[in-house]
Amino acid sequence: MTIRLYNTMSRKIEEFKPLVPGKMGFYSCGPTVYWDAHIGNMRTFVNNDIIKRVFIENGYDVTHVTNITDVGHLTSDEDDGDDKMEKGAARENVSVWDIAKKYTDAFLNDADLLNIIRPTFLPRATDHIAEQIALVQELEKMGYTYEIPGNGIYYDTSRFAAYGALGGQNLSELRGGARIDDTGKRNPTDFALWKFSPTDAKRAMEWDSPWGVGFPGWHIECSAMSMKYLGPHFDIHTGGQEHTKVHHTNEIAQAEPIVGNPWVSYWVHYAWLLLKDGKMSKSAGTAYTVRNLIERGYDPMAFRYLLLQGHYRQPLEFSFESLDAAANGYKNIVRRVADILNTENRGDVDTAVYDVWHDKILAPASDNFKTAESLVVVQELLKDATVNPATKIALFEFIDRLLGAQFIDRAKKLIALESETAPAEIVAMAESRAAAKASKDWATADALRSEIDAAGWTVLDSKDGYKIVKKA
Ligand code: AMP
Ligand code: ZN
Repeated sequence: MTIRLYNTMSRKIEEFKPLVPGKMGFYSCGPTVYWDAHIGNMRTFVNNDIIKRVFIENGYDVTHVTNITDVGHLTSDEDDGDDKMEKGAARENVSVWDIAKKYTDAFLNDADLLNIIRPTFLPRATDHIAEQIALVQELEKMGYTYEIPGNGIYYDTSRFAAYGALGGQNLSELRGGARIDDTGKRNPTDFALWKFSPTDAKRAMEWDSPWGVGFPGWHIECSAMSMKYLGPHFDIHTGGQEHTKVHHTNEIAQAEPIVGNPWVSYWVHYAWLLLKDGKMSKSAGTAYTVRNLIERGYDPMAFRYLLLQGHYRQPLEFSFESLDAAANGYKNIVRRVADILNTENRGDVDTAVYDVWHDKILAPASDNFKTAESLVVVQELLKDATVNPATKIALFEFIDRLLGAQFIDRAKKLIALESETAPAEIVAMAESRAAAKASKDWATADALRSEIDAAGWTVLDSKDGYKIVKKA
């Protein structure tokens, strides 16, 4: 099926045409591993996963690269500010290397909880210093660089005519409007390729280079590592929306003088997950992690379901009310899938019916990744009594591959919970509760229900009595 996607470079929805038939080379900017990734960051990584799954279900062989930024680049896009990794190390009183390892593991764990398929390659910036230096040397040979003594090697953006195209920036305005500070930059948009270590202090992370001891500028790793693993040109490059004007603009400026234009065929940018009052903030305690959601009793799949109901180009406002609604919606689907799995005579998969629904579900996802519309079709499928249970289950296997929502897995877990028999003391409490109800002693009945609940079981009342089930 044709895949269409919005290309930030052309500002249009375009039909996807691969560089190599049947293959898709995919680079997505990864996490800076100085602290936990919050659920906003994870929205971006779920978006990558959706794109990847849509291509896989359309038969593409996807090579996906995500970098781990473990070099302490500076906190601002302007190459100054504090070093995030060193800040993390100071905060926890451990080495920068320990910080990098701890938060790389934490990130991968959170990604697994959200059922994000691991990238084909997950290169760390610190393992690719030589490649980054080599790229800076090439740019130097071509005359794109200059040195600011005591500061670093900078990229001269006035040398690259297409600079700013991705972000739609008007360069003469940018250059004319901003005052050049006292850093010695030739143009306000120039950026560091290699920073020198201070002469009076030893940095926790620093390397030798042809220009002196120091560390790479923060844009160079993505240009160097993407080309190493995907070749000089590749199909899709993604990242959060804030990367358009600086980080990705600079990645292009570093790559295109060497490999030519266009370096990348499609640029995709994601809108953010926001809170009502704006940004998620660690200091305000509102930068929740996936593990925080689990501590509050949510299944990470409920969060993924919330994200699937949005669209990657639209900001999404996060609240616990919206997460509750998503959790209920998710549980309803899981309940119905469990009921289908419990059906005794499921019949055989009807391939003609399967194909029709398969395409109906895949089509919106392939049209600029409209997963919310795919979910509407999923609801229609559940309601359609003419589709037999075997076909529905086969379709849910496909839906799970496409959306990564683990409906069948959770339905099987639900069935396992429901088939567990309650221990004798819980049965005894449920019997006492039934007796209390029969004698209209509601207070005792309610108290017993709470006690049973606290022990991890639920009493479900029905016409013919009650059932005791393990709480999910
Ligand atoms: P960082 O670890 O800071 O480099 O961020 C990792 C990724 O998360 C980047 O691609 C950011 O664009 C993205 N990101 C940061 N904040 C948010 C947010 N609130 N919602 C969605 N994506 C975000
Ligand atoms: Zn990047």
